[in-house]
Amino acid sequence: MSCRWSWSGPVGLAAAANLAERGLRPVVLESGARAGAAVRRWHHVRLFSAWPELVDPAGVRLPEPTGWRRPGDRFPTGAEWAREYLEPLADALGDRVRFRARVVGVARRGHDRTVDSGRDTEPLTVHVLHDDGTEERVTARAVVDASGTWGDPNPLGGDGLPAVGEPSPTASRTCWTPSSPLGTRASASPSRAAATRR
Ligand SMILES: Cc1cc2nc3c(=O)[nH]c(=O)nc-3n(C[C@H](O)[C@H](O)[C@H](O)COP(=O)(O)OP(=O)(O)OC[C@H]3O[C@@H](n4cnc5c(N)ncnc54)[C@H](O)[C@@H]3O)c2cc1C
Repeated sequence: MSCRWSWSGPVGLAAAANLAERGLRPVVLESGARAGAAVRRWHHVRLFSAWPELVDPAGVRLPEPTGWRRPGDRFPTGAEWAREYLEPLADALGDRVRFRARVVGVARRGHDRTVDSGRDTEPLTVHVLHDDGTEERVTARAVVDASGTWGDPNPLGGDGLPAVGEPSPTASRTCWTPSSPLGTRASASPSRAAATRR
């Protein structure tokens, strides 16, 4: 039985590094093709936090034997955070990270909605949908949900529910970070647009 399952953003990878350090067997399931898939969606934005605040101690210790060094005291962009920390950390975790694997459900093994008894002792069943269309059920002692909020943004209502009159939650999921100023300007200039598309 696998021990812990999580997702490959900064939090999921840090959780996996801490678990691996304690001799447990974490597995990271990531729906994207690369580590930090959500962070890469806003690759052009510079963070307001500097590197020391963006790395986990165990996440630093794990890749260091490969020759990787923690970046200096700068403010990286999303792309740099992914490329200079999340990706080397995922590489160090090796086959404990599985890409193109979307978690679509987590339930208590052998317990449908009508069964109460034994929920606190049974392991969990994680339902995974792979990019190639295949499905998998895996068993885990625990699950760390580090799926972030990028694909599921907060609605406008102050209580976490959609405000009265707000479009459906599905409609509100289109609030992506706009592309970079360079990309915006490029649309007015055919030659620059071609350059930024490459
Ligand atoms: C523009 C911008 C600037 C920011 N600047 C800062 C900053 O300066 N400092 C700071 O501390 N924070 C900053 N943040 C916030 C920070 O990015 C988040 O707090 C952080 O990324 C959360 O990490 P996470 O691992 O929980 O989630 P995410 O980074 O969202 O990672 C979640 C991962 O899970 C994957 N995933 C989601 N659902 C599933 C699923 N069902 N199955 C499998 N995989 C799944 C996603 O593909 C993703 O890779 C910023 C955010 C934005 C948008």
